[in-house]
Amino acid sequence: FWSAVPQGPPDPILGVTDAFKRDTNPNKVNLGVGAYRDENGKPYVLESVLKAEDILHQKKLDKEYLPITGANDFITLASELAYGKESKPLQEGRIAVAQSISGTGALRIATGFLSQFYNGPKVVYLPDPTWGNHVPLAEGVGLKVQRYRYFDKKTVGLDFNGMKEDIKNADSGSIILLHACAQNPTGIDPTQEQWKELSELIKAKKHLALFDMAYQGFASGDIIRDAFAVRYFVEQGHQIILCQSFAKNLGLYAERAGTFSIIVSSTEEKERVLSQVKRVIRPLYSSPPVHGAQLVATILGTPELYEQWLTEVKKMADRIISMRDKLYDLLIELKTPGEWGHIKSQIGMFSFTGISPEQVQALADHAHIYMTKDGRISMAGLNEHNIKYFAESLSKAVKG
Ligand code: PMP
Repeated sequence: FWSAVPQGPPDPILGVTDAFKRDTNPNKVNLGVGAYRDENGKPYVLESVLKAEDILHQKKLDKEYLPITGANDFITLASELAYGKESKPLQEGRIAVAQSISGTGALRIATGFLSQFYNGPKVVYLPDPTWGNHVPLAEGVGLKVQRYRYFDKKTVGLDFNGMKEDIKNADSGSIILLHACAQNPTGIDPTQEQWKELSELIKAKKHLALFDMAYQGFASGDIIRDAFAVRYFVEQGHQIILCQSFAKNLGLYAERAGTFSIIVSSTEEKERVLSQVKRVIRPLYSSPPVHGAQLVATILGTPELYEQWLTEVKKMADRIISMRDKLYDLLIELKTPGEWGHIKSQIGMFSFTGISPEQVQALADHAHIYMTKDGRISMAGLNEHNIKYFAESLSKAVKG
């Protein structure tokens, strides 16, 4: 049956982890994977999550199927977190929400729904570069993928003029995918002023803004600040689509908790849209998993746990920010050629170092340090024990 199946290419990110696992050197460092690590390089389960687990255990809840669109308490609390309790469309019942299989599943509902029902051009504009999965998520359902400029190699910063020009030149009504905060892989976000300009431009062109929010709170440590772009666009009347993930900010990677939501113009429209969202979801997986959603709902819905979570998410963000400062200081101290300010100004899990694929290879071959080919490092993989070794090795690789 399967003799004609060609070998697929390895996943660029998981391939890095494989190479790391094969390396037997004790100094090896994995900066490929996008998951938080504590100061000892270990995966971290939040205290608030452990407490929520206890509460759920005591409740002895059943394991009945959830509705197709998921648990109601979860989707209400998750939407309040993203949009803010005061959000007008939320208060007016004009947001159609469905629980999703984390952020990826939310994006898959979004692209599935758009490919069937969007009556504008079925073209998704993605930032260049973007999270690799965005491309197959769009193309897999027949949406066309285009790019808008985002990263400026020269400044290792945002190519804001290029971005605006490409969004302006896109056919009116195109779908523009935006990373709400902590752009992956660059770690470079528009400023609040730039978001305001983007909002105007996207509105003038009647484009549809599709927000991917995988890092709320995890980026700056402040859930409100990280939701700025989403909330601003909504205030300005954009009928956005939002894909929300709880993988990073609650450390619930494998629990697959997230939401898909779409702002509509009336409660009647919400019912129609939701009826079709259900038809997108049903053949994919029937209904979502319950446990992660219960954890999120317990934390967001219990004031003490919510406060504790806010402290914990800030702690994770702050540790990453302190690693940025430290790495920058070390690179300067080591007189590393180049300008390294971007290490500090970038935000979130990742840093785009700006080093070449050859330098990436040299770090793997000579220093046992692993990262994706584009020079992206996961800041969470750095800690007090390995940062000096990393800075010295990076400095050496750059000096050649
Ligand atoms: N979007 C972006 C930009 C991401 O970085 C990620 C996680 N790597 C996701 C979406 C989705 O992740 P998950 O499905 O684990 O929520």
